[in-house]
Amino acid sequence: MTDGARTATRTGSGPAQAATHCPYCALQCGMVLRATGDGVEVGARDFPTNRGGLCQKGWTAADLLDHSDRLTTPLLRDRPGGELRPATWGEALDRIAAGVRDVQQRHGPDAVAVFGGGGLTNEKAYALGRFARVTLRTRHIDYNGRWCMSSAAAAGNRAFGIDRGLPFPLADLGRADTLLLVGANPAETMPPLMQHVTDLRERGGRLIVVDPRATATARQADLHLQPLPGTDLAVANALLHIALTEGWLDRAYVAERTTGFDEVRRTVAGYWPAEVERLSGVPVADLYATARALATVDRAIILTARGAEQHAKGVDTVTALINLALALGLPGRPGSGYGCLTGQGNGQGGREHGQKADQLPGYRRIDDPAAREHVAGVWGVDPDSLPGPGVPAYQLLDALGTPSGARALLVFGSNPVVSAPRAARVESRLRALDLLVVADFVRSETAELADVVLPVAQWAEEDGTMTNLEGRVLRRRALREPPAGVRTELEILAALAGRLTDGAPLPSDPREVFAELGRASAGGPADYAGITWDRIDADTGVFWPCPDRDGPDTPRLFADRFPTPDGRARFHAVTHRPAAESVCADYPLHFTTGRVLAQYQSGAQTRRVAALRRAAPGGFVELHPDLAARLGVTEGAPVRVVSRRGELRAPARLSTAIRPDTVFAPFHWPGAQRANSVTNDALDPVSGMPEFKICAVRVEPA
Ligand code: SF4
Repeated sequence: MTDGARTATRTGSGPAQAATHCPYCALQCGMVLRATGDGVEVGARDFPTNRGGLCQKGWTAADLLDHSDRLTTPLLRDRPGGELRPATWGEALDRIAAGVRDVQQRHGPDAVAVFGGGGLTNEKAYALGRFARVTLRTRHIDYNGRWCMSSAAAAGNRAFGIDRGLPFPLADLGRADTLLLVGANPAETMPPLMQHVTDLRERGGRLIVVDPRATATARQADLHLQPLPGTDLAVANALLHIALTEGWLDRAYVAERTTGFDEVRRTVAGYWPAEVERLSGVPVADLYATARALATVDRAIILTARGAEQHAKGVDTVTALINLALALGLPGRPGSGYGCLTGQGNGQGGREHGQKADQLPGYRRIDDPAAREHVAGVWGVDPDSLPGPGVPAYQLLDALGTPSGARALLVFGSNPVVSAPRAARVESRLRALDLLVVADFVRSETAELADVVLPVAQWAEEDGTMTNLEGRVLRRRALREPPAGVRTELEILAALAGRLTDGAPLPSDPREVFAELGRASAGGPADYAGITWDRIDADTGVFWPCPDRDGPDTPRLFADRFPTPDGRARFHAVTHRPAAESVCADYPLHFTTGRVLAQYQSGAQTRRVAALRRAAPGGFVELHPDLAARLGVTEGAPVRVVSRRGELRAPARLSTAIRPDTVFAPFHWPGAQRANSVTNDALDPVSGMPEFKICAVRVEPA
């Protein structure tokens, strides 16, 4: 059955049904929504990524559609410190337009900034970029995906000349003989993915997990390497050192398909396994077993996720693992390669079409004159009128309300008060703004600070496209109309553009926006020109690049060449360096963060779902029983985790799954349990990724 056979159906009096995808993570599990007498029922459907499986978040996603916290009218704050009050759309949009005009007249176009999200559809991400560059004429636009994928994206671009999370279909995992997961915990973050790992293991393949915690995924592994947080790069270089000394390299592949190996060879020569064991805590025997398992099989896959990437050296860590994959000749072979597990629902598409500070649609660079000319032509504006590159997300937020930063901010699909690193600092910057606008469907912690809150449609009420972790473009299909009083982000942007300029109107119909996106992306690395909604409907999605309506799409990349000028992949020599913040007498422990199965990102949505709240009611601090005994902490007792930037308070959860020198907290909760009160805002110099995954703390009974 094609995906098209399951498109939305409506009958005059009968129940409506729509085949769509989960609103949450990048696995984008296929689901069917059915209207019942008193709500919406979720069913799983067979799709290549989830094969009929859903996790608890997906099963309960419809609970938010008619939730009592749902916003159905705009809210306005009349004066600083006053309460938000219901307002009409006319009042709200007029207030925003007047505020934007006032700020830009006083401080210039860049004084207004836009902050987007990795959960927005491709159409919204594209429209947001166009709105920022053409309507607002600001260079300041970035999005929360900067905190998710940017290190893997930058490493992929510099090694392969392209950034597509998985350069092969997810089902390839089941064809591999060895799968190495570095800093990834899909058993909790995207459980249906584990079906593909099961395929691998049933064929006799091996799963190896690198993680400082014995996560649900690590517990299923044949081998678990448990390094000190922040030492993955050294581990990767040691694996390549071993492959080199054991003669396990694919020399023909390195010679024919890559450049730059000699410097990498010299660099990894110094990564003696015994020294890396002292640095990381990973036994030499496990390093050898891992290198052997990757290098002496026909097919091996290396995947990274946030555990490896969310560091101030995240780009170099991913690069070290790509170096390993290239030296073993993995990329471009079926059932083999390197990939990154994208996090947010449209983390992939959201970074391809203009939400990123340095990009134009089609993954073009905004400082490339040819790209500016092409996209300006589609937008009907002078290329010279387009602003230049802005700054990455944290720098954008950190400067708000200061002489060098924006004075007004429009937030779409993000909740940085909970999700930003060093969140108290970001919260104070948001409070310093002249105008804060938040579009959301609930009063998130960021919306609570806003001057104007705009209620938007939810996933079951809108049409559009998403691009999943495989680079597969999918259809999101509406089951029902949004409630009265609610608008889509596309309608909001079009209405604001109409108030702010007398130029060409911004389309608000998603199909029309997607067609324009295709034209704007034509010829770019992420070329969607050949993709139409009808074509997606006729199959199980379309993999980009797909430049021609009549031509093929691209499920697998790199079979014959890499999209670099000479067609070869590029090695880059990278060296280990310590975390931005070292432990010391005052802050003697390592702190790391992550997710739990029943919550998602900042929790603004999932914390409101009763079943998920029951499953994961609040934050906690995971610590080893030996450490707890030293601190005088017992199971469930309240503890404080204190860093140089702030503290969190939550009950202790004792577990041997974590190293005794490291503590862990999930980042889904606000207020006193906000893990990001503690995290470090040190940034990767290439990607702008904050160092979420390691900082120095002390823990004490609260
Ligand atoms: S794994 Fe991800 S996409 Fe699938 S149901 Fe869960 S949250 Fe949704």
